[in-house]
Amino acid sequence: MEAIYLDYNSTNPISDEVINEMVRYLKEDFGNPGSRTHSYGQRAKVAVNQARRQLAKAANCRVEEITFTSGATESNNLAILGLKQYGTYNQKKHIISTSIEHKSVLAPLYKMTEENFEIDYVSPGKNGQITANEVLEKIRPDTLLVSVMGVNNETGAVQPIQEIAAGMERSEAYLHVDASQGFLKAEETYSSPRIDLMTLSSHKVGGPKGVGALIARRRAYTRPPLEPIMYGGDQERGLRPGTLPVPLIVGFAKAVELIQIDLREKLETCRNLQKRLVDELKTIEACFNCDPNLSVPTTINFSIPGVDSEAAIMALKSIAAVSNGSACTSQTYEHSHVLTAANLPEEQISGAIRISWGTETQSLPIRELVDALTFIKN
Ligand code: PMP
Repeated sequence: MEAIYLDYNSTNPISDEVINEMVRYLKEDFGNPGSRTHSYGQRAKVAVNQARRQLAKAANCRVEEITFTSGATESNNLAILGLKQYGTYNQKKHIISTSIEHKSVLAPLYKMTEENFEIDYVSPGKNGQITANEVLEKIRPDTLLVSVMGVNNETGAVQPIQEIAAGMERSEAYLHVDASQGFLKAEETYSSPRIDLMTLSSHKVGGPKGVGALIARRRAYTRPPLEPIMYGGDQERGLRPGTLPVPLIVGFAKAVELIQIDLREKLETCRNLQKRLVDELKTIEACFNCDPNLSVPTTINFSIPGVDSEAAIMALKSIAAVSNGSACTSQTYEHSHVLTAANLPEEQISGAIRISWGTETQSLPIRELVDALTFIKN
C-alpha cells in the first residue's frame, strides 16, 4: 500500500470535482478570455469573471482588486518589487518583514536592498510566533511596507496579523500578508481592509499548481501604487500581462468553493487530530519546533532527541510521506532558516520533521507513526 500523503504544506492533492471543472475549460470551452470576436472567448471570459467573484467573496475584496498570477511566488514578487518605484519617488525606502518569510518574500526584499532600501527583520520566539509590538514599534515615517506571512509553511505558526493590521490603522505604510498557508486553513480570515496586499496560492487550498492571486485592496478609493514586473499585454489592467490560464483559474475557484463547505467543522476535526498526535508524540519525548497551540490545526513540526530528520523520514517512508520543512529548499540540505531564526538548538533543527494534512483529512496513522519513531529512537 502506498504511504499516506501528509505533506500538504508543500502541495495539496486535487479532487475529481476540481479536475472535472478544469477539463471543461481545457477541452470544450478552451477559448482565450481576451478574444472578443466569438463565443469561445466570451465563454472563457464568463468563467474567469465567475471565478473572480467566488474568490472575491472568500477573500473579502472587490473583483477588481484581484490580480491572477502564476502562484504565490509571483504574487510576493509583485507585491514587493511592484512598490519599488513608488517608494523611490516618495522617499519611502524602509521595509519591515520577518526572518521566517518564504524565500519568495526574502529574495525580492534582498533585491530591494540593491536599490538602497533598508529592511528590518523581526524574528520569532521559540514558540514560532513574532510579536505584533516588535513589528509596530519599528514603523517610521519613511516605512513603505510591512510584509508578514499569515502562517509559516514550515512550522504552521500563526502570526498576529489582526494585531498588526489594527496597530497600523494610523500608518500610511502598506501591509502585505503572504496568506498562502493561512487562507482557509487558519481561524484568521484576513478580511481586514487594512491588509492592503494579500498573496494567495491555489495549490495550497486544493486547486492546481501554477496559479495564484495578489489581492490589492483599495484604501479610500486608491489602489496600492503597484508597477508591473512584466510587460507586454493589458490583461489584469496591465499589472500582470499574459493570457489568463482559464482552466487553472476555474480550478482555483472551485477548490476555494469546496474547502469553504463546513470549514469550521473541518478545522475542528483537524484540531482534534493534531491534539491526539501531539499527545502521542509527547510520550516519546518529542520537542515541538513551534507551540502546537499557536499553529494551524493542519501542521505539526517536531524533533525526536537523537534522531536526524533524514533518518526519521526514511523510517516513516512506508507509512507516510512527510518532510523536514520547506519543499522549495529541501534539495539543498540547508538548515531551515525558519528554525534557525527561532533560535532552536542545533540538534532540534537537524531533527525537524513536518507532518501536514488537509481540511478533508479524517484520520492520521498516529499509532504507526509513533511506533516507527520509537523503533529508530531506540
Ligand atoms: N509562500 C509560502 C508561505 C509558501 O508556503 C509557498 C509554497 N511553499 C509559497 C509562498 C510559494 O507558492 P507557489 O508554489 O504558489 O509559488
